Amino acid sequence: MNFELTPSQNEIVNQVRALCRSFPDEYWRERDARAEFPHEFFGAIARAGYLGVAIPEAYGGSGLGITEAALVLREVAASGAAMAGASAIHLSIFGVNPLVFHGSEEQKRRHLPKVISGEVHVAFAVTEPDAGNDITHVSTAARREGDYYIIDGRKVFTTKAKEASKMLLLTRTTPFEKVARKTEGMSLFFADLDPGAVEVRELHKLGRAAVDTNMLFIDNLKVSADDLVGQEGHGFHCLLDGLNPERILVAAEAIGMGRAALNKALRYAAERVVFGRPIGQNQSIAHPLADAYAKLEVAELMMFKAAWLYDHAQPCGAEAAIAKFRASEAGFEACDRAVQTYGGYGYIRDYDVERYFRECRLTKLAPLSQEMALNFVSEHVLGLPRSY
Ligand SMILES: Cc1cc2nc3c(=O)[nH]c(=O)nc-3n(C[C@H](O)[C@H](O)[C@H](O)COP(=O)(O)OP(=O)(O)OC[C@H]3O[C@@H](n4cnc5c(N)ncnc54)[C@H](O)[C@@H]3O)c2cc1C
Repeated sequence: MNFELTPSQNEIVNQVRALCRSFPDEYWRERDARAEFPHEFFGAIARAGYLGVAIPEAYGGSGLGITEAALVLREVAASGAAMAGASAIHLSIFGVNPLVFHGSEEQKRRHLPKVISGEVHVAFAVTEPDAGNDITHVSTAARREGDYYIIDGRKVFTTKAKEASKMLLLTRTTPFEKVARKTEGMSLFFADLDPGAVEVRELHKLGRAAVDTNMLFIDNLKVSADDLVGQEGHGFHCLLDGLNPERILVAAEAIGMGRAALNKALRYAAERVVFGRPIGQNQSIAHPLADAYAKLEVAELMMFKAAWLYDHAQPCGAEAAIAKFRASEAGFEACDRAVQTYGGYGYIRDYDVERYFRECRLTKLAPLSQEMALNFVSEHVLGLPRSY
């Protein structure tokens, strides 16, 4: 068993850290306050080639694994960019997985180089107002008309739709009532986010204001049959391949945010003197920070185990769900302890830990809620009856 990063993995870590130093906390604080997309950061990451870290070399990527992608996203989050930085690039790095695995050769050659260069931003339009965790209930309908599909429906929580010109769009080509199995009859498109047919209405969120999340009102969107990903009716299966890597990457992001918060808290605990001694000398401040550190280390081991399994083409559903569950808990707890360590200043925007706290909260909700992660473990690992 070897827990060491390889020299080239260490190089990725060092290079991403160096790149992120040009985007300090002030940059992210300002993007958050103004709700502005971090274009400069996105451009720098694209120019350094990291958007294509896990995309095959044949299409201009680096052809590396989820382990390397996790290192990139962990370091981005740990730099203080938090979810704003990670979410700005996450969908380009991983979101196009269904296209990589199920797209035609022509689709991959047409689209992937533009995703890697950052020319094309991608959104992921799966969730609907009445289809959240149970995505088999999506009702956005695609009907074939000659060489096109006409698509109508509503999506919610579509991240980056204001930036994106393309979206991976999950639809129903056969209504729920007419399929033998509820996972059948769904189709995935790599569709244009055509402003003539898609109204994008931004949602106002607790955190991560720099990266927009939206409602989509889709009316008569005309999508070429060439933009269908995989076979008609198999959209759900195309999405499945992306679930484990997404969980692993979100785990890496939560760990990164936890580290960012912990590092700030440790500095503050050493410097802040109250009652004549540094607050870190009090065990009620020190122990929760030590506990948070230990939990982040443990979560990271599971994250790397899941990534290793995925990169070695082995089943990793349980490990990915556990990693995402544990990392979200550990990351959020570290952020919460950092706020507590700062006392009243922890609640003030200038000190950044409240921003990490708000942004890290998201990893407990999306893309997989903590409850659904535990449902997975209960059913698929412990063999308990399915609860829903
Ligand atoms: C900021 C943000 C960005 C997002 N970005 C995207 C995106 O880009 N694209 C996209 O498609 N979606 C996105 N999502 C959606 C996210 O994946 C959903 O929020 C998620 O799928 C949950 O759906 P829901 O909110 O409708 O919750 P619901 O399904 O309504 O669930 C509500 C609560 O009940 C719990 N629950 C439901 N069923 C069970 C059960 N059987 N057992 C135990 N607990 C249960 C859930 O865990 C949750 O806590 C985003 C969400 C947020 C908040």
